[in-house]
Amino acid sequence: MSDAKVIQCPCGYTLYGAGDTEVVRAAQEHARTIHDQELSSEQALSMARPA
Ligand SMILES: [Zn+2]
Repeated sequence: MSDAKVIQCPCGYTLYGAGDTEVVRAAQEHARTIHDQELSSEQALSMARPA
């Protein structure tokens, strides 16, 4: 059983995580470092899909 999740960034980059917490953290770090934007947990979670 896997809780793996993916978030597809609008820029085309795909973030992966072993679960909600990890994929949200990956997306927030990506948004901050690549796009200079702060992504809320709610925003990131709403974009998460089962991997
Ligand atoms: Zn991006």
